[in-house]
Amino acid sequence: MKNKYDVIIVGAGPAGLNCAEKLSHAGLTVLMVEQKETIGYKVCAGGLTKKDIEYLQIPSSLLEQEFDSISFHTPSKKVVIRGRENILYTVDRKKLAEWQLQKLHSGYVHIKTGVRVTGIEKDGIILNTSEKVYYRYLVGSDGATSTVRKSLGLKVNQYAAAVQYIIPDSNYEALEVFCDANYFHSWYAWIFPHREYVSVGMMFWPQYLTAATALSNFNQWLEKREIDVSTGQYQAHPINYEYQGFHFDNIFLAGDAGGFASGLTGEGIYQALISGEIVAHTIIDGHYNDKDLSGLLRKKNLHDKILKLFLKAGRWRTQLHEFIALLVRNTAGQRLALTIVT
Ligand SMILES: Cc1cc2nc3c(=O)[nH]c(=O)nc-3n(C[C@H](O)[C@H](O)[C@H](O)COP(=O)(O)OP(=O)(O)OC[C@H]3O[C@@H](n4cnc5c(N)ncnc54)[C@H](O)[C@@H]3O)c2cc1C
Repeated sequence: MKNKYDVIIVGAGPAGLNCAEKLSHAGLTVLMVEQKETIGYKVCAGGLTKKDIEYLQIPSSLLEQEFDSISFHTPSKKVVIRGRENILYTVDRKKLAEWQLQKLHSGYVHIKTGVRVTGIEKDGIILNTSEKVYYRYLVGSDGATSTVRKSLGLKVNQYAAAVQYIIPDSNYEALEVFCDANYFHSWYAWIFPHREYVSVGMMFWPQYLTAATALSNFNQWLEKREIDVSTGQYQAHPINYEYQGFHFDNIFLAGDAGGFASGLTGEGIYQALISGEIVAHTIIDGHYNDKDLSGLLRKKNLHDKILKLFLKAGRWRTQLHEFIALLVRNTAGQRLALTIVT
C-alpha cells in the first residue's frame, strides 16, 4: 500500500464499488478501505428493480429470483399487482459485490479489507492500525453510520431501521408486501424469496415505533402468519435517508452515507450506485449528469411526501392502506403504483 492516493473510498458497498469502477477506468489511483474481511456482506433483502438491472446490465445468472407480480396485503385485502414485464428481482449481496469487483480496473485500485477508518483529517485518513494515508479526494460510501459524514459535522436527525430474518427455506414463491398499521405503523413488512433462503423483514422509523415495539409487533405478526423463524438468522441495520448534499470541498458522500435511500420503501441500492457514479464524475472532470441527481432527489421528495401523508393520517391510516388496495385493483392504478414505488 502506498501512502498517497488520488482518491480514498471508505466502504465497499454498491456506492463505493461503482465509484471505484468509474475512477479506476479514468486512470485515478484509488485506495478502497473496507472494515469487513469479506466484501459484499450487508444486512439487506437484496431486492432490485428494473432500473437496477438496466443500469448494471447484470447477467441473469446472478439473479436469485425474478418476479412479474407483487402480492400487496392490507388487513382486509390481498391484491396481486402485475407489471408489463418483471417488476422485481432478488440478488445475493455478496455475489453482487463480487461481480462489481470484477469490473474495477485492478491496476488502479488497491483494496484493503478488515481495516477500519477511525479518523478523518483534512489531507488523510487514520486507520485502526494507526497508519495515516493521504488523499486528494475522499469519498464516504461507508453506509448509514458513516464516519466520513460525521467528520463533516452532518448529523443524521432522522433515520429508519429495518429488521429481517434470513430463513433457509426455498419454498416461498411470491414476493409479498404487507401494509398493516396495527403492526407496522406507516411502513410495511416484506417477504422476498431468494433461491435458497427467504428474507422476511420489516421497516420502521424509531421516532414513531421504538425498536422494542417494532420487534414485538413483528414477532406477533410472524406468529399470526405462521412464519417459522426458528431456523432464521435475525438481522437489523439502520437506513439513512437524510440527504444534506454530497459535495463538501474535496470530500464526497455517496449512498446511505449521503442519505440517498428512500425513507418510505427502504430502497437504497440503486441510489447508492447512481450517487457513486455522480461522485466519480465530479472528481474526474467536475461534470455529472444533472438529470441523474435531480431524478434521485425528485423521487426521494415524492417518497417523503407520501410518507408524511401516512404519518399524519393517524387513526385513518388503515383506511388509507385499504384505499390504496382499491386503487391498485385495476391496471392503471397498478402502473401508477409501480412507477411511484419502484
Ligand atoms: C434489512 C434491510 C433490507 C434492505 N433491503 C433492500 C432492498 O431490498 N433493496 C434495496 O435497494 N435496498 C435495500 N436496503 C438498503 C440497502 O441495503 C442500502 O441502501 C445499500 O446497501 C446502501 O449501499 P452503500 O454502498 O451506500 O452502503 P453499504 O452497502 O452499507 O456499504 C457500506 C460499507 O462501508 C463499510 N464501512 C462502514 N464504516 C466503515 C469504516 N469506518 N471503515 C471502513 N469501512 C466501513 C461497511 O462495512 C460496508 O461494507 C435494505 C436495508 C436493510 C437494513
